[in-house]
Amino acid sequence: MNSNGRLILFSGPSGVGKDTLLELLYKKKPDLVHSVSATTRNRRENEVNGKDYYFISKEDFELMIQSGNILEYTQYGSNLYGTPKKPIDDWLSQGKTIILKIEVHGAKQIKRLYKNSVSVFILPPSIEVLEQRLRKRGTEDEDDLKRRMETALSEIEESSGYDYVIYNDNLETAVDEIIEILNKN
Ligand code: 5GP
Repeated sequence: MNSNGRLILFSGPSGVGKDTLLELLYKKKPDLVHSVSATTRNRRENEVNGKDYYFISKEDFELMIQSGNILEYTQYGSNLYGTPKKPIDDWLSQGKTIILKIEVHGAKQIKRLYKNSVSVFILPPSIEVLEQRLRKRGTEDEDDLKRRMETALSEIEESSGYDYVIYNDNLETAVDEIIEILNKN
């Protein structure tokens, strides 16, 4: 395994603002690359296939697993999410810093495979704020929203196992904290 590059794992409950945060991070650090996951979830209106995710069928996802093209995967809600392996191998051998947006089980799998990866958990200012943000986003129905809030609570319990925990209270401050982490590791 070539480890000239490194993996930075970002986890945090649904609605915590990971996308907005990472978007600003990429603007400030254009040398970073980000892994595009495969998922069986339906595409949201504002999402672009190949940029936000590769939106694929369950059958194609299973084929990817069988052919060894998925580095890690997990079921989240009723959908599968996984990291395509080839781009990660290529970027690592090119010495790149790779950003992965990943839930807690996937982060653990990656940490086991890549010991020098750095894990960061993003926390909301409060549970109430998280629920408000998720409702305002309006992309999930009530059942899914309830499930995501339950998952959020159990994910937050796992945050102590991460290398770093940051609060997404103020966007600029949170991104500056991430840059500090990148500079330190
Ligand atoms: P969402 O449906 O909100 O886009 O994502 C749901 C969860 O799946 C989020 O916590 C997100 O970070 C996680 N996720 C996205 N891609 C992957 C992946 O490739 N692997 C794993 N394990 N989790 C992922």
